[in-house]
Amino acid sequence: MKIVTIKTPDQVIIPLQQHDGAVCDSLVSVGDIVSVGQLIGDGEFRIHSSVSGEVIAVSELPHPTGKDVLSVVIKTHDGEKREIEPVELSAGKIRRIIKEAGIIEPNGHPTLRTKGDIDTIVVNGTNTWDLSSYEALMLDHPSEIVYGLKALMETVGAKKAFIIIELGSEALNTMRTETIPDSNIKVIATPGYYPPGTENTLSKKFAKKRVPRGSTPEDRGVLVSSIAAMKAIYDALRDGEPMIKKVVTVAGAVGSPRDVLVDIGAPISHVIKECGGCSGTPVKIIVNGAIPGTAQYSDEVPVIKTTTGILVQTESNIEREPTAPCINCAWCVDECPVGLMPHLLYGYADSAQFEKCAELYIGDCVECGMCAYVCPSKLPIVQIIRYGKYGVAEMEASE
Ligand code: SF4
Ligand code: SF4
Repeated sequence: MKIVTIKTPDQVIIPLQQHDGAVCDSLVSVGDIVSVGQLIGDGEFRIHSSVSGEVIAVSELPHPTGKDVLSVVIKTHDGEKREIEPVELSAGKIRRIIKEAGIIEPNGHPTLRTKGDIDTIVVNGTNTWDLSSYEALMLDHPSEIVYGLKALMETVGAKKAFIIIELGSEALNTMRTETIPDSNIKVIATPGYYPPGTENTLSKKFAKKRVPRGSTPEDRGVLVSSIAAMKAIYDALRDGEPMIKKVVTVAGAVGSPRDVLVDIGAPISHVIKECGGCSGTPVKIIVNGAIPGTAQYSDEVPVIKTTTGILVQTESNIEREPTAPCINCAWCVDECPVGLMPHLLYGYADSAQFEKCAELYIGDCVECGMCAYVCPSKLPIVQIIRYGKYGVAEMEASE
């Protein structure tokens, strides 16, 4: 087994926004006793408690995206977990079960996000170099992943599915063997490339359906999902377990870098400690990959449904270079996988011209980080674009 289950922390912090959408309403108050799998937040999506314990706070707390978000803090009861009652999730059809389980993709979209006709499902099983959670899941749980995929195909009416895995991944043979009986599921090996998870790219490259600007792959009959979601569907259907755990890659300057199964809401500090602690003095902790990830202000932010990796860096891992003004070289434009003009977005967002940001489709940015990676002026383009997206969302909400 590649995945190590780490112990439940004394306290979890469960943000009521772990998806691409509005903050959920809290269904609990301070003093309430909750159990594992209990629904504690509802709204656009559903959020469940990952532990049994007592609610000790419901307040705005730091979130891995860098903002403060309404969160439920639960003091766990001796780290013990009660058995989950599958009866709560088993009533009704698969669609309802998946929806009620609150399954979210790593990009924050719900897995089941369309009622339209879907012909093809593309399951992203590729990881970037510092993340390996998908490979670990495929090696440890191949049959569960195929079960989840078949259930999703049945639910949306898809006739075929592709599982995309990097060439050279140990999981390639495992998944090929697992899918031999299913002629409508194909495992495709792809050279390692970046960014790996752009939905539109996956739709175009593997389902051969180009997605015009302003459309989604679902509009073209393609549903792009992930290995993590397939396992979460299995957990929901077979074990009655909503999305309350996540497999996360812990990499970099830690005692034991590895893939771990974590309770959602576990503070990053707890996860790092359970992986042998920091080797040396940490100067940067990045969530979700070295290039696209977000550097954290605090190691007390929690693991959430969209967390895929935690990278710990010491001074020797970091190249510090001063920023310089944009020289309009357009390297960022050449590299942007979704055809944006990152240098313009950077300038408009930096000067709070959010209308201009919206006009230039800032919402299409998948935050892959390629623009910042190639920028000779070392500008923090992605951080400023994130700020711009936030500004656009605020502007649109006030209209
Ligand atoms: S992060 Fe930069 S390169 Fe990536 S999609 Fe956004 S603007 Fe384009
Ligand atoms: S790569 Fe950097 S310097 Fe070049 S145009 Fe883009 S933002 Fe400006």
